[in-house]
Amino acid sequence: MTATIIDGKTIAAELRAKVADEVQRLAKTHGLMPGLAVVLVGSNPASEVYVGSKKKMTVEAGMRSFDHTLPESVSEQELLALIARLNADRAVNGILVQLPLPAHIDTQKVVAAIDPGKDIDGFHPMNAGKLATGLPALVPCTPLGCVILAKRVHGSLAGLDAVVLGRSNIVGKPLAQLLLNENATVTITHSKTRDLAAVCRRADLLFAAIGRPEMVKADFIKPGATVIDVGINRIAAADGKKRIVGDVAYAEASKVAGAITPVPGGVGPMTIACLLVNTLRAACASAGLPPPGV
Ligand code: NAP
Repeated sequence: MTATIIDGKTIAAELRAKVADEVQRLAKTHGLMPGLAVVLVGSNPASEVYVGSKKKMTVEAGMRSFDHTLPESVSEQELLALIARLNADRAVNGILVQLPLPAHIDTQKVVAAIDPGKDIDGFHPMNAGKLATGLPALVPCTPLGCVILAKRVHGSLAGLDAVVLGRSNIVGKPLAQLLLNENATVTITHSKTRDLAAVCRRADLLFAAIGRPEMVKADFIKPGATVIDVGINRIAAADGKKRIVGDVAYAEASKVAGAITPVPGGVGPMTIACLLVNTLRAACASAGLPPPGV
């Protein structure tokens, strides 16, 4: 079997185009222009690349992008003061603080300081709690993108066996909650799971979010399963340069899976597209409008 490639790049571009249409409609009908504030602390090269793409795509979707770059040495108090200003700013509908933050800053404190209505990363405990209890919430972008990709393959996920590799607060746990909301039967695995390959082989839907380059081999995959690879790992290539691989050994996995996401070009582009969806949702909610049709 050769798996169908799930083209995250194209699906994300379609989603961004829908967001752009909704943004235009909001401007015409309500004179609204959603705004996203991106806060970057320090000069981590990977974070700078992500933040650059996020800003570019925000503007392309017709939204306002507010840029706040702070030095590595910024104090926690100064960062919290900026968050307070952004919380109060009516032009800002979404606040994104790029992680990781420097070690002297308490990440949880910063995340908890963001107005939950502007928490477009969906990391605030209030949004995490709402997601866990099945209430409408702003949900983390990467898991949301994973579910959209899986639904592109299956339509409904109801009754399917889903296995999530990884239990982080930003990917594994919220992904499991979203899958439960889609009526999948969900198993979460982690570094202490026994016989991981056997557990994974039960999955109709296998999601890998462990940060271990190409750890998921062909024998982890049930023939015909859908495999969504969240991993982004930089490894040394034969020519001495770096290349990016996922958590799944793509070449061998694609001979067993029914459908699979490539890395890059799978989940990654969906994360940014979902960030725009969340900003649009936050803008509609703050204006007292119904949720947008995306
Ligand atoms: P994380 O916080 O490091 O969590 C990793 C999870 O994987 C943990 O729950 C850990 O288990 C589990 N794990 C690690 N090694 C394992 C093993 N050998 N067997 C089974 N489970 C294992 O990572 P994360 O932030 O969730 O990110 C995961 C990956 O996704 C990374 O490659 C990251 O770069 C990527 N990512 C991509 C996007 C995107 O937009 N595409 C967004 C976010 C993250 P324990 O809990 O037991 O330690």
